[in-house]
Amino acid sequence: MTNDQVAGASAPARMRTRRVMVGDVPVGGGAPVSVQSMCTTKTADAASTLAQISRLADAGCEIIRVAIPDAGSLDGFQEVCSKSPLPVIADIHFDYRLAIEAARRGASALRINPGNIGSWDRVDAVIDACGQAGIPIRIGVNAGSLDKKIAERQDLTLPEKLVASSVSFVEHFKELGFFDIVLSAKAHSVPTTLATYRALSQELPSVPLHVGVTEAGTLQQGTVKNAAGVGILLEQGIGDTMRLSLTADPVEEVNVAWELLSALGMRRRTPELVSCPTCGRCQVDMIPIAEEVSRRLASVKAPITVAVMGCVVNGPGEASDADIGVACGRDQAMLFANGKPIRKIPADRIVDELMSEIDRRFEAGGKD
Ligand code: SF4
Repeated sequence: MTNDQVAGASAPARMRTRRVMVGDVPVGGGAPVSVQSMCTTKTADAASTLAQISRLADAGCEIIRVAIPDAGSLDGFQEVCSKSPLPVIADIHFDYRLAIEAARRGASALRINPGNIGSWDRVDAVIDACGQAGIPIRIGVNAGSLDKKIAERQDLTLPEKLVASSVSFVEHFKELGFFDIVLSAKAHSVPTTLATYRALSQELPSVPLHVGVTEAGTLQQGTVKNAAGVGILLEQGIGDTMRLSLTADPVEEVNVAWELLSALGMRRRTPELVSCPTCGRCQVDMIPIAEEVSRRLASVKAPITVAVMGCVVNGPGEASDADIGVACGRDQAMLFANGKPIRKIPADRIVDELMSEIDRRFEAGGKD
């Protein structure tokens, strides 16, 4: 279960785009911003790919993309599509025949960059195949693979080139009567990402946007870049689905995406931990306590706010919005719920007592 609107939070107003269905997941048209990731396994190895999809689905991934680098991946792809709990997008570069075959073999959508498919005839053949299969296409424009004519223009900035490429592709698709489009135009630079997507939302207001900072780096840097780039866009109502690219286990992409949606007050799936940075008033070793609570909250599915505060002086007050929490003292801690004290607990039982209270109140019968 997810909360598509976090209680009490003021979520950003969303731009209204056309709704497209990726399998059973709506994208655009006011649907909740969906969370995507991409498998790192070889698609030809269907068993490994399905195992990774299962882990991603458990983490809250809603749409999965897999690479189809060659014809040898197609049998595995077909098996993945038939068994996956998530809609599967086929990611194709260069070879339009792979795209057509993926559409026939059960893809819920294709992701192509028309700029590297070759001639328009080939792009049009892919559009026809998707039309027949009744599936959408994500037009994925990348700063690193722009249409050559546009890439060579000296009079345009990089965001202007990305927007010009995107607009020309979308216009072509629409001229053929194909409207089930999702668009992305990604860069690894946050300022370029912001400028590009802001312009796209003005130039193509009805087209659902897939947002993300691409090639954002390893876990820490990539999280910060995506939080800045995607966070600002979402706050401005721009973006219908997202993939936060990280050089890490793809489950981390999903975890970070949900943290971002939760921080923006847009969607909540799991607990949010409020923990103080500690100061000279703190009388316990807070960091391991907060880390242990964070680790154990990973298995809690209730969208609650949990506070772990370093002192009984300011703790309950500072965490008054929390559903449940502890304010730690020298030998004992105060357990509180909804900002009010409930009972004292001994210092060596802080995490266990907090977690069992969470289990009793929120896991057994939902949020009380
Ligand atoms: Fe300091 Fe207490 Fe505030 Fe933590 S809750 S930062 S220990 S005053």
